[in-house]
Amino acid sequence: MFEALQDKFQQAFKTLRGRGTLTPETIDETLRDVRMALLEADVNFNVVKALLERVRVRALGGEIGASFTPAQEVVRIVRDELVEILGHDASLLTFSKEYPSVLLIVGLQGSGKTTSSGKLALWLAKRKKRPMLVSTDVYRPAAREQLAVIAKEVGIPCFAGDGIDSPVELALAARKDAADRGHDVLIVDTAGRLHIDEALMQEVAELRTRLRPSEVLLVADAMVGQDAVRSAQEFHERLGTSGVILTKLDGDARGGAALSIRHVTGQPIKFIGVGEKYDALEVFYPDRIVSRILGMGDLLSLIEKAEEAIDKKKALEVHRKLQTDTFSLADFRDQLRQMRSLGPLDQMLGMLPKVGMFRDAGKVHVEEKELVRIEAIINSMTAKERERHEIINGKRRKRIARGSGTSVQQVNQVLKQYVQMRKMMKSMTRGLLGKHLNRFKIPVGSSGL
Ligand code: GDP
Ligand code: MG
Repeated sequence: MFEALQDKFQQAFKTLRGRGTLTPETIDETLRDVRMALLEADVNFNVVKALLERVRVRALGGEIGASFTPAQEVVRIVRDELVEILGHDASLLTFSKEYPSVLLIVGLQGSGKTTSSGKLALWLAKRKKRPMLVSTDVYRPAAREQLAVIAKEVGIPCFAGDGIDSPVELALAARKDAADRGHDVLIVDTAGRLHIDEALMQEVAELRTRLRPSEVLLVADAMVGQDAVRSAQEFHERLGTSGVILTKLDGDARGGAALSIRHVTGQPIKFIGVGEKYDALEVFYPDRIVSRILGMGDLLSLIEKAEEAIDKKKALEVHRKLQTDTFSLADFRDQLRQMRSLGPLDQMLGMLPKVGMFRDAGKVHVEEKELVRIEAIINSMTAKERERHEIINGKRRKRIARGSGTSVQQVNQVLKQYVQMRKMMKSMTRGLLGKHLNRFKIPVGSSGL
C-alpha cells in the first residue's frame, strides 16, 4: 500500500539529511519534491496546494528548533499536516436508538459495495453486534445471489425476500424481519451503475428517505484515483453521505483518492478495504496511514508511543531525581510499570537506533515476565531499602528473596539492573532521545528509556 508514494517521499527527504541548518531554499527544494510526489500519486491539486502551504509556513516559521535534525523536523511537520488533511481522528460508525440501525451502502458498480457489505457485517459481528444483510439489487439476480453467498461465508443472516422486486419494499421487509429477529444492524447493499445517473440517484435517495439510515456509506474504489473523489463528491451532494469506505487499497492504488477525499468532500473515510478476503477491512486511522505513507516506521512510532503514554508530571519528577541522584528503587519500579504500559520492553528498546546514546540500550535485558518478578522483589523491600539501595547487605538480600519467592541471585540481579538502568537513564537525559522528548515538551529522561 502506498509504496510508490513512500519511495518518493524518502527521496524528497534525502536531500535534507545531513544538512545542519535549513534555509528557505532547501525547504523549497524539498517541498518541490514532496509536491511532485503527491501529484504523481494523483492527489487532488487543491489538496497538495493547501498541504504545502501549511507545511511551508510552519517550516519557515521558526518551528525548526535545535532538538530534531532539520530533516526530521520537516518530516514531522509534513506528518502533522497530512494527518490534519485526513481528518485527524478515526471516524466511527453511528447507530440509531431504535433497532435495527440501517447502514445504507451506495456507490458505483464494481467499487466493492457487495464485498464491503459482507466485510462490514463480519467486522460488526466481531464487535458484538448482530447484523443482518440485504441486497436491493433487483436488476441482476446474480447480485443478490452474490451477497447471499458472501453472507453464508461470513456466517451472517441475509434476508432473501423472494418475490419482492422493488428495492424499497425489499429493504423495508428486511428491516422488519431484522427487528423481529433481534438484529441490531441492517446492512443494505444497493445496485450500482457504471456512471452516476438520474435513475440510480433517485432510487438511492428514496431508500434513504424511507429507511432513515444512521449511515450512508459511499464505497469508492481507490484504484480509480481522482474519479473516486469525484464520485464521492457527487454522491455526497445528492444524498448527503456520512462517510466513505475506500476499497482496493491493497492493489497498486497510488494513494491519491485516500489523501484527497476528506479534504475535497468533507466526508471522512471510515474504513479501508485492503484485500478480497472478508476480514480485509480496517478502520481508517489517519495517523497510522500517514506513518505508512511516510515510511518512517520505528522512530516515529516510538515518539508517538512516548507522546501517548508518558505521564508528564511524573516525568519531571524522575528527571529531577536523576539529576540529584535520588532515583530510588521505588522509582525504578514505577518506571518499569510505565515502560510496561508502553508495550513489550524488548520491542521498545529494539526501536531505538543502535547508535550513540542508545548503543547500550540493548544491554538492559528485561523481559516482560521478568518485570513481574522485579516488582515482587522490590515490593519485598522495606521503604528504607527502596530509598537507599546501598544498605541492602547479604542478610537483607536473603530476607528479600524469601519474601518475594525468589533467590538471592535474582535479588542481586535486580539490584544490578537498577544501578545499570539508573546510569543509562542519566546519560540519556543528555542524549538524543531526551531531546526528542523535549521537543514534545516532555522533560528529558522522562520515559525511562
Ligand atoms: P459492487 O459492484 O460495488 O458490489 O462490487 P463487488 O463487491 O462485487 O466487488 C467488485 C470486485 O472488487 C470484486 O472482485 C471484489 O472481490 C473486489 N474487491 C472489493 N473490495 C476489494 C478490496 O478491498 N481489495 C481488492 N483487492 N479487491 C476488492
Ligand atoms: Mg454488488
